[in-house]
Amino acid sequence: MVGAGHNGLTAASYLARAGLSVLVLERRDIVGGCCVTEEIAPGCRVSTTSYIASMLRPEVISDLRLRDHGLRMVPCDPAIQVPFPDGHVVPWWTDRERAKAEFKKISSKDADTFVQVDDRLRKLARYLQPFFMEPPPEIDTKSVRGWTDLLRVGKKFRGISSDEISQLISFLTGSLGEFLDHNYESEKIKTMFLANNVYGKHGGPYQPGTAIGLLFHLLSGGEHELQGFSGHVMGGMGAITQALAESGRKLGVEIHTSSPVAHIDVRDGRARGVVLEDGTEIRARVVLSNADPKRTFSKRSRASPAHPRTPRPSNAPFTPWFLRSNLPSAATTLPNSARSPRSCGWIAWSRPTPMPLSRPPASTF
Ligand SMILES: Cc1cc2nc3c(=O)[nH]c(=O)nc-3n(C[C@H](O)[C@H](O)[C@H](O)COP(=O)(O)OP(=O)(O)OC[C@H]3O[C@@H](n4cnc5c(N)ncnc54)[C@H](O)[C@@H]3O)c2cc1C
Repeated sequence: MVGAGHNGLTAASYLARAGLSVLVLERRDIVGGCCVTEEIAPGCRVSTTSYIASMLRPEVISDLRLRDHGLRMVPCDPAIQVPFPDGHVVPWWTDRERAKAEFKKISSKDADTFVQVDDRLRKLARYLQPFFMEPPPEIDTKSVRGWTDLLRVGKKFRGISSDEISQLISFLTGSLGEFLDHNYESEKIKTMFLANNVYGKHGGPYQPGTAIGLLFHLLSGGEHELQGFSGHVMGGMGAITQALAESGRKLGVEIHTSSPVAHIDVRDGRARGVVLEDGTEIRARVVLSNADPKRTFSKRSRASPAHPRTPRPSNAPFTPWFLRSNLPSAATTLPNSARSPRSCGWIAWSRPTPMPLSRPPASTF
């Protein structure tokens, strides 16, 4: 396994559970990837990248006995809190009636819309939920496998109405900006949704495909599989990967940190092992990469011709438009009104012009 992020560690543990001998090679001197707790100043330990656990599956928590290895989560409530330039601080409570009451102070019409839209989104998100724990379908109608997969996917959508199909397609392809303009009147309410849905995107809210975040955040997670769950991890996000690593070790997974992989040795279309940066060669029947696709495919040994189905690493730059910084509460000098309750997911600072980038021609929502 190249990389010890949470996905690499999870896969490694399941493979070990299935009886395979698994070696995890991690570039850094700690495991966790983007799911880590680090000491950034003496005595100040924080989640340095990801900070909220939302879709950690209950199956993974129980199969890998993560509670026994110290994992504890508490729900974020409010999930998010947005201070506006006029001093108004709006919490987004997880209890819908409480959230509605808060939104009503901004716009009565939008507060009512919020409830209707939330019902709609929750229902649509439930159609996508099962795909989380399954391999993507291979829809090749020339093979029996393709037909079986088509049937498997079709069954998940039994009972869906044509209106819901068109809504799902709109959410998969449409933009968040369009959706908000179509449904809400208040800029503050739109900002609440933006704050909760555009982070991590490599584009603005009017880019096609950005609306999917609305459904994505209503998938379920946490120990009790709650829809839209988001939780604080006691000890920071690193507690998840520490628990995963511990669980893996108990199952026989060997984890080597400070072991950067220089090349994946691919010959005749098959990965045969890896070469570390210090020249050590390690043979393996199967090489799994937890590194991102660009890194993974650029690490393929150049001596080997690419398999026809191997994706070519893109040279497209990653250009985020969203900047966010997480401040440990001890280090902040926020005004009292903007200080968050201890269980708040996170605080989003809003801009006076919350909907940048050009507007779309027409709405599909
Ligand atoms: C700033 C930020 C904030 C985020 N916030 C959240 C959040 O609040 N909640 C949430 O659910 N998600 C959040 N995410 C997303 C989440 O962190 C990632 O989706 C997740 O960590 C991906 O996990 P992973 O195991 O797939 O990959 P990664 O965490 O990227 O792990 C990949 C591992 O591979 C290692 N590696 C790479 N190349 C090599 C090599 N050549 N040799 C050996 N090892 C190698 C890396 O060092 C790393 O440890 C955030 C991401 C970022 C960047």
